[in-house]
Amino acid sequence: MGVRVQINGKTLELVMGDITEQDTDAIVNAANERLIPGGGVDGAIHRKGGPSIAEEARKIGLCPTGKAVVTGAGHLKTRYVIHAVGPIYRDGKSGEPELLASAYREALTRAEELKLNSIAFPSLSTGAYGYPLEGAAPIALNTILSFLKNREYPRLVRMVLWGEAAFLAYRKALEELAKKN
Ligand code: ADP
Repeated sequence: MGVRVQINGKTLELVMGDITEQDTDAIVNAANERLIPGGGVDGAIHRKGGPSIAEEARKIGLCPTGKAVVTGAGHLKTRYVIHAVGPIYRDGKSGEPELLASAYREALTRAEELKLNSIAFPSLSTGAYGYPLEGAAPIALNTILSFLKNREYPRLVRMVLWGEAAFLAYRKALEELAKKN
């Protein structure tokens, strides 16, 4: 069911599933700038991980759009939660593509700093923040692939897509990227 590509000895996987169930070294949260528990992925992570994640996040304070910060993971199977803030989609011409790429790159950079082998991402910004899947998928995949190509860590990136529509959009975007390279 999943899809897997290798790049420079590292792996990118696309799977359908639930980000809160991942046992990678880190999982990425689709956070908001105030790092206050919300809905979607964020709500699910805080519900399952318990209050320690929000307590740690509160001490950090704010995380501007396009940036990412790290907390522990409470009761989750992972070691770290990397809170990345994607852009709210307006018209696609308000810097959203650059900010979305930056959110992925920043989360990957936090993982690299911690020398983590594996990290799992949800599809940032494509829920409550309204980014169209077809626009977001190639940006996410391009950013991840170029990071894997150029850096030593992380060695495995898993995109965890919630439902078939998201999975198919990412698979199609990956096939199109493969044709270009
Ligand atoms: P944002 O506010 O950045 O748009 P959301 O959490 O609203 O973040 O949604 C981001 C994406 O994550 C959406 O495509 C949504 O369908 C998906 N999603 C929701 N719950 C989960 C989950 N448990 N695991 C993985 N993806 C999820």
